Amino acid sequence: MQTPFSFRLGELELMILSDGHQALAPAHPMIGPYEQPDHVLQSLRALQLPTDALQLDLNILLVRHQDKLILIDAGLGQEDTTSGLLPANLAAAGIPATAITDIVLTHAHTDHTGGLLHPDGAPVFPHATIHLSQTEYDYWMQGRPDFSASPLDIAPEMKTGLTTRIPQILRGIQPQLRLAAPRATLCDCIRLIPAPGHTLGHSMVEIFSGEDTLLHSADLLHAAVLLQHPEWGMFYDMDFGQAAHTRERILQEAANTGRMTMTYHLPWPGLGKIKKDNTGFEWEPVIPSGR
Ligand SMILES: [Zn+2]
Repeated sequence: MQTPFSFRLGELELMILSDGHQALAPAHPMIGPYEQPDHVLQSLRALQLPTDALQLDLNILLVRHQDKLILIDAGLGQEDTTSGLLPANLAAAGIPATAITDIVLTHAHTDHTGGLLHPDGAPVFPHATIHLSQTEYDYWMQGRPDFSASPLDIAPEMKTGLTTRIPQILRGIQPQLRLAAPRATLCDCIRLIPAPGHTLGHSMVEIFSGEDTLLHSADLLHAAVLLQHPEWGMFYDMDFGQAAHTRERILQEAANTGRMTMTYHLPWPGLGKIKKDNTGFEWEPVIPSGR
């Protein structure tokens, strides 16, 4: 059990809840697949990050806006033994899964969509409308997804895992699904921002209330080491070159504006600011005031 982290953004009440975590082993080539292993492991050690596996937290943002209760992504769910904690953590916060009105998906990878369905295929959030970019939906559902620009291209089992399970989940949520334009505004407090590369339709999410905004950077960063080396990328980047380009551009923008940023996978609760340093960028964790 992880106590939710609550804070405000203008008129909005926000909460970050954990779905647990996921370990992707070994850490190399999960991070920096095209780099020398020693170099990557040394950099991980310098940041006191584990080298046996890439440890990904699963940080789920909940936005309360008037009568809407909106989740950004839904966790990995029962797809792993270390995840699936979101419904219990919501319940402990007094929010039954049936109260969720909307879920905004940043992309379709299973660590963001696995938590939408129970193992028997029943919906975990039966009253929620689930929003996903049309581009992302089409990538997985129209013909055979293209992995030729991804490190995954040499990993047939992992590819098959994705191309089997993701369409299965998307078919399972079909009655709840509403496809969105690339820059759609949803629920009067959320804007989609295309950030292609990690997947074709990978979207960041900007939460806004008046002038106040929070950037939810989705899967821009899987480990702090990518701030120093945005070009290193990760194994699941579908278009590796485009993902690196997007990462560098958005890190630069976030460092210029100094805006509050949320990450899905950095250590709980994943809130902070991106700063420029001598060699690249660094992550400054921030605990917002007004809890
Ligand atoms: Zn992810």
